[in-house]
Amino acid sequence: MSALSAARPLRPFFLLLLVCLWLLLSALGGWGVYWLAQRAGIADLRASGEHRMDLYAASLEREVDKYAFLPAIVALDEDVRAMLNRPEDAGLQQRVNQYLEQLSERAGTLSVYVVDSRGKVKAASNWRRADSFLGEDLSFRPYYREALRVGSGRYFGIGTTRGEPGYYLTSTLGSVHDRGGVLGVAVVKVGLEQLEQSWAAVESPVLVSDENGVLILSNRPEWKFTTLQPLDEATRQQLENSQKYNRRALQPLDWQVLRELDAGTALVRFRPGAAGASPGASANLFLSQSRPLHSFLATPWRMTVLSPLRPVNQLALSRAGVATAAMALALLLVALLHQRRRHLREQLAAREALQAAHDALERKVAQRTADLSAANQALQQEVAERVQAEATLRAKQEELVQAGKLAVIGRLSTEMAHELNQPLAALRTLAGNSQRFLERGELAVAQGNLQRMADLADRMGRITARLRNFARKSEGRPASVVLDDVLDNALSVLEARIDRAGAVIARKGEPRLAAWCDANRVEQVLVNLLGNALDAMRGQAAPCVELECRQAAGQEPGQVQILVRDHGPGLSAEAQEHLFEPFFTTKPEDQGLGLGLALSADIVQACGGSLKGANHPDGGAVFTLSLPAVPPAALADTRAG
Ligand code: ADP
Repeated sequence: MSALSAARPLRPFFLLLLVCLWLLLSALGGWGVYWLAQRAGIADLRASGEHRMDLYAASLEREVDKYAFLPAIVALDEDVRAMLNRPEDAGLQQRVNQYLEQLSERAGTLSVYVVDSRGKVKAASNWRRADSFLGEDLSFRPYYREALRVGSGRYFGIGTTRGEPGYYLTSTLGSVHDRGGVLGVAVVKVGLEQLEQSWAAVESPVLVSDENGVLILSNRPEWKFTTLQPLDEATRQQLENSQKYNRRALQPLDWQVLRELDAGTALVRFRPGAAGASPGASANLFLSQSRPLHSFLATPWRMTVLSPLRPVNQLALSRAGVATAAMALALLLVALLHQRRRHLREQLAAREALQAAHDALERKVAQRTADLSAANQALQQEVAERVQAEATLRAKQEELVQAGKLAVIGRLSTEMAHELNQPLAALRTLAGNSQRFLERGELAVAQGNLQRMADLADRMGRITARLRNFARKSEGRPASVVLDDVLDNALSVLEARIDRAGAVIARKGEPRLAAWCDANRVEQVLVNLLGNALDAMRGQAAPCVELECRQAAGQEPGQVQILVRDHGPGLSAEAQEHLFEPFFTTKPEDQGLGLGLALSADIVQACGGSLKGANHPDGGAVFTLSLPAVPPAALADTRAG
């Protein structure tokens, strides 16, 4: 998470970088395709250029060849030869003139003429015209000199008379090797238009330059007599002297070589405004291919074809455009795919993380459940142990209560013995008397004695029954108990002691009040409280115990109370502090164990009540035994019963 949040602020920058990269790669792809397409286009252009050059050269050759035989025909003519042998024969000259005129007309040449061995024109097809060559001295013309030297010649030049450019084909009359020597030279001049006719339909520029680099043939008329390269001053002067181009300006072609591809092939551009240049830079770009025209032996001409680069560039540009768009699209697609894959990866990672968290949570829950069940088991065990301990405790307490009860009975045994001794002694006396009365025959008196003995036995039975009833082990089950009855029982258990002490028992309060408790247990408590009261007043002249049954008021509603008050010395400060603690006693060892009040408090608490001890303001101690009143439901049951 922290890495992600750290990366977030940089995102726009990366996005910009990616967009730049995307544009750069797309542009690079486009440029690469442009370069390849241009190369392929140029290669195609070169192939077609070569082909065109073959065609143009062949057609040019064909055109020239059409006239090639003409000088030889003239040279073979008898009249022509005769005329040269007899220059004074005017009639012959006139005939030759007419012959040449007809020949020129039929062949479609510019002119046909015959020059004698001194270089003078002796007969000419244009003899009728004012600017006829007749009589002109052409000995300085290179084609004438060449013919004299090698027997025939081909030459491009501009006529000195009319300034008309043309192609000169020559043939000597009589060979230089003939014994008679050279009679003269037959010359046929062909116009450039004728030669250029074959290129009329060609759209791309094609041009032929001569040995001086001057364009002598072209399908672009404005380029004629321009030069491929600028001429140096010496060459220009020499051409001037020979009047080869009849003083034409010979301006260089206004182009610029951009790149040489190999020998004879280059990329060129015409400068805007140059002759033949088109408006717009790309329209002036050409692939230039040139090669020598070998068929023109005497004249080292070169043919140059120019192929416009514009279609190639346009095609390359359109392909580059398509490639750029395709590249951009492909890159975008790749980026989108990458993004999608990344998104999927992130989703997968998130799902895995979620799954891991879920698994961890489940493990934790399982662990907690196991812990909880272990804790629950432990708790259950503890509860079971507690229940067990409580049961044990209760059993122990039961035993203790019983032990306490037995202890009370033990303490009462002396009084019991006294109580039983008296009727026993009376029984013995009455039995002895009755025997004597029977011996004497006084049956009525004996009978009366027997009746008294039965009464005494009944009384003894009641005494032991009381004790037996008190000593029985109760189960501590609550029931509706009338407080007066429990008090009666407790007092009857202590009857002998009370009598011996001469104590007065004063009872007051609400009669027949009932509590919800175990009668036997409450009886045991009351025996303890009454026993303590009697102990406290031991030795007093007129001991008195006040008993009161009442409804509890104030803080303990729904409870009934029995108050046991004596007129003894009251509770000492130490006794108040340790009153209900086991084994706290101020009595001699044979009279008290210090368990009475502790057991009584436990019994009362088990019944749902309480036991409190205090000093009465008028002296003596007062113990308040509070017990739950009979619940209404149980009360209804009791009444119904
Ligand atoms: P025991 O009677 O065996 O001593 P108890 O638990 O019944 O044991 O009483 C504990 C002590 O409380 C007595 O020893 C006595 O000092 C004191 N006590 C109990 N009842 C009274 C009373 N009514 N007046 C004065 N002191 C009392």
